[in-house]
Amino acid sequence: MRDKQHIVIVGGGFGGAALTRILQKHGQLFDVTLLSEESYTTFSPMLAEVVGATVFPEHVIAPLRETVGKARFIMGRVFGIDFANKRVHCSTLKGDMPLDYDQVVLAFGNRARVDMIPGMAEHALVLKTIGDAMHIRNLILRQIARIELETDTALRSRLGHFVVIGGGFSGVETAGAIMDCLRGVNHYYPRVAASELKVTLLHNLDTLLPELPPALGRAAERSLIARGVSVMLKTSAMEIDAMSVRLDHGATLECATTICTIGTQSNALAARLVGIRRERGRIVCDADLSVNGINGAWAIGDCALIQNHRQPTGEPEYAAPTAQFAVAEAHRLAANILARARNQPTQAFAYRSRGMMATVGHLKGVAQVFGLNMSGFIAWLIWRAYYLSQMPTFGRKLHIWVEWSWGMFFRPDITHFRFTRSHEFLQQDEEKQ
Ligand SMILES: Cc1cc2nc3c(=O)[nH]c(=O)nc-3n(C[C@H](O)[C@H](O)[C@H](O)COP(=O)(O)OP(=O)(O)OC[C@H]3O[C@@H](n4cnc5c(N)ncnc54)[C@H](O)[C@@H]3O)c2cc1C
Repeated sequence: MRDKQHIVIVGGGFGGAALTRILQKHGQLFDVTLLSEESYTTFSPMLAEVVGATVFPEHVIAPLRETVGKARFIMGRVFGIDFANKRVHCSTLKGDMPLDYDQVVLAFGNRARVDMIPGMAEHALVLKTIGDAMHIRNLILRQIARIELETDTALRSRLGHFVVIGGGFSGVETAGAIMDCLRGVNHYYPRVAASELKVTLLHNLDTLLPELPPALGRAAERSLIARGVSVMLKTSAMEIDAMSVRLDHGATLECATTICTIGTQSNALAARLVGIRRERGRIVCDADLSVNGINGAWAIGDCALIQNHRQPTGEPEYAAPTAQFAVAEAHRLAANILARARNQPTQAFAYRSRGMMATVGHLKGVAQVFGLNMSGFIAWLIWRAYYLSQMPTFGRKLHIWVEWSWGMFFRPDITHFRFTRSHEFLQQDEEKQ
């Protein structure tokens, strides 16, 4: 038996990265390896800012090698785990690679769902990754550039209409960010009238932000409307195509860009793991975050179904699939792994949410912090201060602070990245000869 345990953490998101940072400090007890398919953690709550072009994409990610300290980082995609022989199988830049472990932590999150509405997979955009955010940002700029060249008024109006489906946190933030972006960049497109650019937010319930008290949902709605976003409540999208969204009450919205912020699905890796119990696609955990029925395995974050033991009696309450919970679970799990190594008892996961916040565009937000409801500029400031504090490394914090301060006084960046390589230009030149 080795004197140090090898802990393999699968997934470098909010949960996996936080856990790695804590465990790597206990080098006398553990060798820690973090395996993740991307080389960075994505700060998803800030993706709407990328869509709205108020921050550069590289500033909402944190490179894992910068933050994991003494732990080993391997960029690789895990495709199987042999729990009986304690071996993880992953594909890396070098090819397929087995990795033996003493304890494994599953923290591989979930994926966006693209099949909730007919036509969604083919015609709508989802917002989950930095690639999604950059694609939407570029598309917005491309649509405005295209309007300038169009003479057909019906087509101009469709190209200038951006529909966001889903009135939860990311839908509200995305709609507000797109409106801010359109208002900010319109100046550079003199042949596009401000009235030709519209944002509509669709939500199937009667108030926005159902996770927050209704008063804050209504405050968010008022802010968005004041900014020019058209908010349609109690309205569901029934079908999406390239140029329209059909609604449940029979009307159709004519639009060339539809963004869906609804629905997630489990990561395919969860289904591929033999022997684990899953409910609603999530891995069933015991009270101390160990995977039910599997020796030496733990799970945290969006991929795990975890009971919150905050209230010892009453209906079981489950941990929310949010970054805040993923980080809280990482802290409890680190304490439990240490307790196990020291032959001490582990403890159940119990966490009281500190609050929730959303931005609604134009320096406004809504927040519930420690039970206190806030809206407007103060809520927006708290949101920004909180996410800035969560960013690892001083340099990154400073970068974002400077960009945000800049964005308060200057127009958004309208650089439209195309990543065209020289040989593609040469090929295009030849085709035009
Ligand atoms: C647009 C948007 C806005 C959001 N806003 C908020 C908010 O305001 N507040 C909040 O608390 N939460 C918010 N969330 C939710 C929050 O981002 C998630 O709850 C959180 O990221 C979950 O953390 P995690 O560690 O479980 O998973 P993730 O952060 O999703 O990380 C999973 C990691 O696993 C890796 N991975 C996946 N599969 C494999 C594999 N097979 N092999 C190796 N690695 C793999 C991924 O690359 C990723 O690094 C938002 C989410 C989105 C999409």
